[in-house]
Amino acid sequence: MSYTDQVVATLKKHIDSFEKQVDVQEVGTVIEIGDGIARMTGLSQCKAQEMLEFPGGVYGLALNLEEETVGAIILGDYRAIKEGDTVKRTGRIMSIPVGDAMIGRVVNALGIEIDGKGDLKTKEFYPIERVAPGVMTREPVNRPMQTGIKAIDAIIPIGRGQRELIIGDRQTGKTAIAIDAIINQKGQDMVCVYVAVGQKDSKVARIVSKLEEAGAMDYTVVVSAGASEPAPMSYLAPYAGVTIAEYFADKGKDVLIVYDDLTKQAWAYREMSLLLRRPPGREAYPGDVFYLHSRLLERACNLNEKHGGGSITALPIIETQASDISAYIPTNVISITDGQIFLETDLFYKGIRPALNVGLSVSRVGGSAQIKPMKKVAGSMKLDLAQFRELEAFSQFSSDLDADTKQSIDRGQRITEMLKQGQYSPLSVEEQVISIYAAGKGYFDDVDVSRVREVEEKLLDFAKKAKASLLGKIKAGDWSDETQAAVKELCEEFKKQ
Ligand code: ATP
Ligand code: MG
Repeated sequence: MSYTDQVVATLKKHIDSFEKQVDVQEVGTVIEIGDGIARMTGLSQCKAQEMLEFPGGVYGLALNLEEETVGAIILGDYRAIKEGDTVKRTGRIMSIPVGDAMIGRVVNALGIEIDGKGDLKTKEFYPIERVAPGVMTREPVNRPMQTGIKAIDAIIPIGRGQRELIIGDRQTGKTAIAIDAIINQKGQDMVCVYVAVGQKDSKVARIVSKLEEAGAMDYTVVVSAGASEPAPMSYLAPYAGVTIAEYFADKGKDVLIVYDDLTKQAWAYREMSLLLRRPPGREAYPGDVFYLHSRLLERACNLNEKHGGGSITALPIIETQASDISAYIPTNVISITDGQIFLETDLFYKGIRPALNVGLSVSRVGGSAQIKPMKKVAGSMKLDLAQFRELEAFSQFSSDLDADTKQSIDRGQRITEMLKQGQYSPLSVEEQVISIYAAGKGYFDDVDVSRVREVEEKLLDFAKKAKASLLGKIKAGDWSDETQAAVKELCEEFKKQ
């Protein structure tokens, strides 16, 4: 052995023994505590996202790994922890309970029940952070996820496995759309997860009771991190939600998950990061706030048959200030998702509800998942609406319009009216096709605008009673000449009455 080899060998031995020494050092000391954040020394082997155990059975989650210290968020009551306390590494990445028993229950961000209906009988645990399914396990979005809302299913359709952002100012009906979408999944063999982030407990309770009333809790899990809970809970809740969703998707189920809303998660993360003394960046958010949302939304997927065929459709919600979609968090999430449903205060107060801005809303992948009849009738309606919007602006300045223009405007007004829809009243896709067909073909043109919705309702009642088999055909995707003729006949017959 040459001299250099000897030196290398000795050094290597040295390093090996050094590593062993560090390896046993699994216990550290709290040097700073406050606001749900702890800073510790002596945990040099600690991993990111590892669970730490404090005295009294309180757990923490390691987030900041620095040269000398580790920064962690405390999951639970931090007031019992003092400077100088010892802290143990657990060697485990944070996990939460998952399982079928969660359906119909309300849990917190740690997967612990908070609805007082007794312990959850779950056996499995899933890690809260998981690498998103790779491209080879996925399939393009190809099956529809019906929300039951005409304006959305027709104009900005959503497919299973898609990520569609719901964005708008406060009180514009964002939650309403998500809840209606959940209610509409009844009998569709779907599992839904509603994640409430930083909302008042009373608001969450109201939503749960609405879901119960509609029979939607039979297939829904609610994860809630309340406004009164510490920021780490709001940070964790969306990850907990998607972890619960993954359990079902792994079993081949289709899952719909709603994050209401990610703005509050970003606020919680900003608060935590500032307390952990991470350098603030734009709007005081930490530099990795994009990653906060991208690694969450990437976990939405449409798995191929070989991987069970399950899917996770995500409806994240973002609240804007004064309709500013170019702020930091909105632009981030817009760039991650496959489209957005943009809601506007002006439209909401004009009585156009859902207050959808058709010009700024898009769905980049859902169109391929629409059934054929819907694709056909919605396609021509979009053109009618676009034409109407142009003419409407221009016709405000002139009193005598030619017949064509007037007809376009009349038609547009009636289509707009037809697209209005109340809360908790989702429509099936075949009913939507009939309504849109009738409005688009001008069957409502001689109806007073204020009566359009009433007449539409009657038309649908008539169709359900007299033409059930035709509706079945439409549902199955049949849009042959024969079916079209039958729909036309239906409208004519109805009109005669
Ligand atoms: P927040 O910013 O407070 O979370 P939001 O944008 O989620 O509000 P919602 O709570 O869904 O809005 O709705 C605001 C109000 O508008 C509620 O009172 C709701 O009942 C009503 N609303 C929502 N959608 C409709 C609709 N399609 N028809 C009639 N009323 C509606
Ligand atoms: Mg809301």
